[in-house]
Amino acid sequence: MTSEELTPARCQEFQQRVLAWFDQHGRHDLPWQRPASPYRVWVSEVMLQQTQVAVVIPYFQRFMERFPDVAVLAAANQDTVMEHWAGLGYYARARNLHKAAQLVMERHGGRFPETLEDWQALPGIGRSTAGAVLSLSMGQRHPILDGNVKRVLARYRAVPGWPGRTPVLNRLWALSDALTPELRCADYNQAMMDLGATLCTRAKPACLLCPLQRGCEAYAEGRPSDYPASKPAKRLPVRETRMLLLESDQGLLLQRRPPTGIWGGLWSLPECPPEEDIAAHCDRHLGLTVGETREWEPFRHTFSHYHLEIQPVLAHVTGAPGGIMEPADHLWYNSGTLLGKGTAAPVTRLLERWRQA
Ligand code: SF4
Repeated sequence: MTSEELTPARCQEFQQRVLAWFDQHGRHDLPWQRPASPYRVWVSEVMLQQTQVAVVIPYFQRFMERFPDVAVLAAANQDTVMEHWAGLGYYARARNLHKAAQLVMERHGGRFPETLEDWQALPGIGRSTAGAVLSLSMGQRHPILDGNVKRVLARYRAVPGWPGRTPVLNRLWALSDALTPELRCADYNQAMMDLGATLCTRAKPACLLCPLQRGCEAYAEGRPSDYPASKPAKRLPVRETRMLLLESDQGLLLQRRPPTGIWGGLWSLPECPPEEDIAAHCDRHLGLTVGETREWEPFRHTFSHYHLEIQPVLAHVTGAPGGIMEPADHLWYNSGTLLGKGTAAPVTRLLERWRQA
C-alpha cells in the first residue's frame, strides 16, 4: 500500500482521530505554547531537534529569561549563548540559532519571516523545523517530519527502509503532506509530535492506547518496533587524544576551541596528539615548561561519526601562555570560581575531577 492509495475519507478519519486524541491527551501546557510566539516556538524547535522535551524545558526557561526576544539574542556575545546551551549537546545548533537571530535583525528588521523559503534560508532551519514554526506559531498549513512524526508514519503505513535514504524520506514527506489537515494544523502537528514522543515510542510503543491502532500496518504485522528501519550498521572509527590538565599557581589552563568543528566555541583543555612529546608540545605551542606528569584513567567519548579515546594527563607547568594563542582564547580556571563558560561533557567531567582532587 502506498500513500497514493490514501483516500480523502481515510485521511480525514486519520486527522479526526489524531485531533480527538490531542484534545484529550496532548500536551497543552509546554512553556513554548504560552505564548506560542514565533521566537519561542523557534527556539524550542531547535532545542528539541536532538533532545527530549523533559530535558529541554529547564534549558528553554533559562534561555528565555536571559534572551527574552530575538533582538536580545542577536546582540548577545557568543560565549553567553554557548553558556546557556552547555549540556544540551550538538553545539552547532546554538551557533546557528545565534547567527539566525542576527540575520532576522539584519534581513527582516527583527520581524520573523512568514514563508517556508525565508525560514529555510536561515542557518540550522530545515523543512520540518520551518513547517513546525509556521504552523505552531502562525497557524499556517505545513507538513512536518521530525523524528517522532517519521516514526509514527513509518509504522502506520509500514514504510520499509531507513529514512536517511532519499526515496524513503520522500515517501514519508508525501505521506505527511497527504495527512496534514487544512484546519487545526497547529494542533495536528503538535499532536503527531506528542503521539510519537509519548505513545509510539522507539522501543515500546503503547499500541493499545493509540488512536491509530485501527489501520496501523506495523501493528497489524505484529512488529511495530521494526519500523522505521535502523541505519545500516557501520563501525565507527576510533581516534585518540591526550587532554592536558596543565596546572600552575594560577589554576588550570583552558583554551577556547575554534568557532567551527567539534565543540566549536566552547572552552576546552589543550590537547596533545599521542605520538608527540608533551613537554616539547607545550613548549612549542603554549610557551609553557612542563614538570612532573601523571596519567589519569582513560575514557571514551562517542560522537555520531567516531569514538574519541581520551587519555587525561595532569602536568605541573610554569611560564605564561603564549605561542599561537590569542589572550582572549585562554584562561586560568580556578577551582574557587564558577567557570561561567560553556564546556563540553568530557571536559566538564575532567574539571569536576580536578576540582575534587
Ligand atoms: S498502533 Fe502502535 S505502532 Fe501504530 S502508530 Fe500507534 S503506537 Fe505506533
